[in-house]
Amino acid sequence: MATYRVTLIPGDGVGPELSEATRRVLEATGVGFDWDVQEAGADVLERYGTPLPDPVLESIRRNRVAIKGPITTPVGSGFRSVNVALRKELDLYACLRPCKWYRGVRSRYEDVNVVIVRENTEDLYAGIEFEEGSPGAKELIEFIAEKTGKRIRDDAGISIKPISVWGTERIVRFAFDYARSYGRTKVTAVHKANIMKFTDGLFLETARRVAEGYADVGFDDRIVDNLTMHLVQRPEEYDVLVLPNLYGDIISDLCAGLIGGLGVAPGANIGEEAAVFEATHGSAPKYKGMNKANPMAMMLSGVLMLRHLGETEAADRLESAIAAVIAEGKSVTYDMKPTRDDPTAVGTSQVADAVIEKLQP
Ligand code: NAD
Repeated sequence: MATYRVTLIPGDGVGPELSEATRRVLEATGVGFDWDVQEAGADVLERYGTPLPDPVLESIRRNRVAIKGPITTPVGSGFRSVNVALRKELDLYACLRPCKWYRGVRSRYEDVNVVIVRENTEDLYAGIEFEEGSPGAKELIEFIAEKTGKRIRDDAGISIKPISVWGTERIVRFAFDYARSYGRTKVTAVHKANIMKFTDGLFLETARRVAEGYADVGFDDRIVDNLTMHLVQRPEEYDVLVLPNLYGDIISDLCAGLIGGLGVAPGANIGEEAAVFEATHGSAPKYKGMNKANPMAMMLSGVLMLRHLGETEAADRLESAIAAVIAEGKSVTYDMKPTRDDPTAVGTSQVADAVIEKLQP
């Protein structure tokens, strides 16, 4: 059997505990892993002078696959988010978030199985902003007045929203390729093309053109506000959603809510060069070192990683084992119990024990 060299970034906060639990269940599938453990985040800031030391990026570039625990964004230290930096440095343009309901998860909805494909590099999150009152903002306001005859107020801050044909083509292709590979039947492009013709309109037009090359997969589109209403009324009607960055951010949290919350929401950031698998949630610093946080979102990110590696059978077994532990409702963390102070809640490592037990033949 193949052994995979994978970068493992334990992260900080509850990251190291969740990573340890995830490493154990991944190894229990029988797939061989040769972990290239790399430290990043708040805990290494003092030692390296940066929360993202060069060897971390080098390791991911070398191995092309990484799984990471959450990393805190230090407030006021002057460092940008390690998570954002990783996405930028490695051009991880696709944020993949499958939102699947498992029997036993407390949620208002059942049978939700939506995959979110969010563009990660463009849109209002491109980081091009002009501060209110700055010379740049003033110049831009004058430029816009001259070109369009429309006057933005002098006391406005401005964020720029770039959406390109190139960026849209690659994310929509990613969504269709994913749909094909995983037997999904429909891709829905999400936009506000009726209002923003030159950005969301371009996104929609480009998505329609790309869709023509995938006649075997269904395609439709939804205006984002209309989608939010539909998702809370009939989430079962959606399959794969492809969205620009901002809508993708919001809708993926909405969908995480539909399937029971952060404890069970896995994810991945994927590019041509590498794929980094990680839970949607953050480092939950208040639970650090307490063996309390739910490792299932990171374990399910591990399932995504196994599928990415082509280890479909092991992925199916691990997913079934996690689903079985959820369905039993016994060896689950506090967040999955009927009340948050339920004394029968178990800890992070006990969830791993229970999943490993289910993996035994
Ligand atoms: P968070 O996701 O860490 O926590 C939000 C809430 O959910 C908290 O009440 C927390 O206790 C709970 N929670 C989160 N994960 C849980 C788990 N696995 N099991 C049980 N409960 C869980 O979000 P936050 O507090 O906004 O962020 C904390 C830090 O994490 C910040 O510095 C933020 O920048 C960072 N962050 C990192 C990532 C990442 O590494 N990809 C993602 C989001 C946030």
